[in-house]
Formats: sequence, structure tokens, C-alpha cells
Amino acid sequence: MTVQNYINGSFTNPISADWLDNYCPADGTIYGKTPNSSQKDVTLAYKAAANAFPSWSQTTLEHRSRILIKISELLEANLERFAAAESKDSGKPIQLATAVDIPRAASNFRFYGNAITQFASESHDSIGLEAINYTLRQPLGVVSCISPWNLPLYLLTWKIAPAIAAGNCVIAKPSEITPVTAYLLGELCNEAGLPKGVLNIVHGEGATLGKALVTHPNIKAISFTGGTATGATIAQLAAPLFKKVALELGGKNPNIIFADCDYDSMLETTVRSAFSNQGQICLSGSRIFVEASIYETFKTDFIARVQQLHVGPPSQTSTQVGALVSKAHLNKVTQHIEEAKKEHNILHGGYPITLKGYENGYYFCPTIIEVATNTCKLNQEEIFGPVVSIMPFTTETEVIEWANDTPYGLSATLWTNALKRSLRISNQLDCGMVWVNTWMLRDLRTPFGGTKASGLGREGGLEALRFFTDTKNICLKY
Ligand code: NDP
Repeated sequence: MTVQNYINGSFTNPISADWLDNYCPADGTIYGKTPNSSQKDVTLAYKAAANAFPSWSQTTLEHRSRILIKISELLEANLERFAAAESKDSGKPIQLATAVDIPRAASNFRFYGNAITQFASESHDSIGLEAINYTLRQPLGVVSCISPWNLPLYLLTWKIAPAIAAGNCVIAKPSEITPVTAYLLGELCNEAGLPKGVLNIVHGEGATLGKALVTHPNIKAISFTGGTATGATIAQLAAPLFKKVALELGGKNPNIIFADCDYDSMLETTVRSAFSNQGQICLSGSRIFVEASIYETFKTDFIARVQQLHVGPPSQTSTQVGALVSKAHLNKVTQHIEEAKKEHNILHGGYPITLKGYENGYYFCPTIIEVATNTCKLNQEEIFGPVVSIMPFTTETEVIEWANDTPYGLSATLWTNALKRSLRISNQLDCGMVWVNTWMLRDLRTPFGGTKASGLGREGGLEALRFFTDTKNICLKY
């Protein structure tokens, strides 16, 4: 499959005729090529977006809403094709792509298609001054959306949908490692009647193409999801240009389990929050803290449940854990575990897996490691793979301290039936999102994002529409 750029409603090859290989994580084969786009392609995409902006920003909210909802319906109608493409491109199990990734991409468009019709701005009656202030929320212009490989279409559309709903024109850059569903999306946008140039999708490497977008003098905002180091680079590049920047970055999320929780529900969800998508989810509960009184029971049960997980080819419907996204990522995870082995007790897994018929695929056994302290490297650095640590705690105070003691602050999970404790601890956790007795239950109206090295700003609900608009206050004296 040859992926092409989507610029001004047309599919085009990169101007420099430079291409990247696209690998299939299931078996390590090269199954296609992707544009290695350059500054020249950005110039072309910018021109298309800038030309489209005056008209798109003046379309009625109802018109925009209809188009976004149409894209959502088309994604649903093409669920099987998109899910198969996402699974093949990223290595994720087909059942996950079918149940989560593509339905969520469709929901993103539907949600913002509806939300924009409800987006209001404020007015202030300046009593005693004989004036009224009203505030407009105006689109920024041309903006850029840069997304990672773990939830390719899901995260890309989470940015694109609010940006275009708010009246902006977009140049999007998916991860070069997982470009296919973004490429297929262009087709659906045309079919839905999205005017040319409103959305442009360019493919290529972060260090060149991504940098060209971030440093483009006329691109007004960067909405980025990816690694913390990349986020820091982007923040540095964008600051002197006074661009609006939203950064959704890494996580090392605590999963805190008290003895009074609903044990079965906790166990089932903890397996999912640890190993879903091969642990390649920024919200994964990768540090598990268990109250000492149930620690040994939990350890035995958790290992038994994880042993039952079916690691297999992504295309098989019975597969629960698929392939990691790339050879480089597999090597990175393996290296982390080799280092951890010198220091810690591996309770399960800890090695790559070779599957018959898929010998060159990027499989890694779901891994559980027992640690003695939260300050160890394993508990401090994001691995972003099928690896969790477990350790017991005795007091509420110590577990809150450990939960907060990482550079990250994205999310936390808390398992307890004690109401006051859940409120008390939730208030003290230094992160952007807390799930109590559940994990990754998403209501798209809620703010999404993290503190500390997990990012800057919030996505979701009206937060994203606020990010993609600027306020203008008008004071009228009467
Ligand atoms: P990267 O930071 O490597 O890449 C993310 C995107 O940024 C890719 O499209 C990449 O391009 C691009 N990029 C890389 N360098 C630059 C640059 N200098 N300027 C502009 N763009 C650039 O992250 P990964 O793709 O490896 O994704 C994994 C990371 O994402 C993890 O740390 C994870 O925690 C985080 N993440 C955070 C989420 C959140 O909501 N907080 C959600 C999901 C993931 P390319 O890859 O093509 O080179």
C-alpha cells in the first residue's frame, strides 16, 4: 500500500519523491511506503489551508456540524476496513481496533459535530458604567495537529475534530510509524463534503516534517500528543513564535488497590489497564500498589490471570495481546527489562516471544515485576510496553507519597469502597485524571490531560474548543 499526502482534497506524492518503508508489526515485513515529506510539502499544505480558511471560518455551525457527523457515520460504515488497517499497521489486536479505536474516532467527529452547536461565549453587563462587554471566540486560522502511533486514528481525530469544528483549517501529521488510517480518512472527508484545504494530512518524520510544522511562522497553534522529550522540544521551538501549544505527554500512572475494593472487578480491570494495547497506552496503570493485607492473594491471582492472556497475531480475533509497534520499540522494552532483571524479581514474562509463522514479529510476553521501592528506575521511567511493577503498601500516607513521586502526573486509578477515603486520596493525587473503581471510562465532555511532565493544557469537551479559538472582548458603551 502506498500512502500519500492529502492536500487540498487531493492525494499527492511527496514533492521530493522521498519515501519511508512501512512495516507490519505482526511479521516484520515491509508492506508499503509512506511519504517522507519535507518543508516543501508543508508550504503546499499551508497554502491550501490558508486559502480555505476565510470561507470555512464563516460557514454556519449547522453546516460544519452536518459534515462532521457525516464523517462519523462514514467511519462507522467503514468500521471493518478501518479496523483491519489499524490492526495491521500498529500490531494491535483486531478486536481492540474494532471495539475501541475506530468507534472512538467516529465518536470524536460526532461529539464535536454536536458540541460546536452548543459552544457559547460570555457577555458581561457592566452595571453602573452604562456598558456591555461581549466576548467572541474566533478560530485561530491554520493550526497543526501532531499525534503518536499507539492509538493512531483515535488520537489524531481527537484533535482534528475540535479544530475544524471551531472553524480552523488543519495540517495534521500522524506518526510516520502508523500512517494508514489517517491516509484512508482523507477519502471519507471528501465523501462527506469537507471543503478542500480544510483538512490536510502530511506524512513524514517528526524531526524534519514535525519540526517544519512547529516552526512555521504562520501556523497559529500546535496540538501535540507524544513523548515528554518531544513535547519539551516543541515547547522550546514554539515559545519564541508565541504559538498556542497543547501538550499531552507521557505517564507512569499509579494503580492503588485497597483491601476493601470489589476484588473481582478490580482484578479484571487491572489486567486490562496493565496490558491492553500491549501496555502502549499513556493511561496504563503501570505502577500497581496493593494494600499489604491482600498483597499475596493479589499477586497469585494476578499472575494466574496474566498467564491466561493470549498473545497472538493481531489479525486473529482470539488475540488479546498483539505485537508491539516497531522493532525499535521492542528493542527498547527488552533493554528496560534486561536492566530491571539485575535489580528486581520477575514474577512473569520478561522476554520477547517468537510466534510460529510470525517469527519476525514484535511480540513481548506480558511482564510483572515485583519491586521493593518506588524510587527504582523501573517505577520512574515510562516504558510504554506490556510491563507493570507491583509492590505492597501499609498506610494511606505512604501510598499517596509514592503515587505522586514520579516526574509524571497524567492519571491514577484507585480501588476502594470507602467513600471518604476515595475523596481524600483523589484530592491529594498530583495528576490530571483519577478513576475510582474503574479505568479509562471516558465521557468526552470531561477535561483530559496531565500535570508535571505529562503535559500542558487540556483536551476534551469545551476545553479543546477553547484551545482552538481566541477570545476577543468588545466593550460597548451605551
Ligand atoms: P513521539 O514523541 O516520538 O512522537 C509523537 C509525534 O510527534 C509523532 O508524530 C512524531 O513523528 C512527532 N515528532 C517527533 N519529533 C518531533 C519534533 N521535533 N517536532 C514535531 N513533531 C515531532 O511519541 P511516540 O509516537 O513514540 O508516542 C509515544 C509517547 O506518546 C509516549 O510517551 C506516550 O506516553 C505518549 N502519549 C501520550 C498521550 C496523552 O494523551 N498524554 C496519549 C498517547 C501517547 P514520527 O513518529 O513520525 O517521527
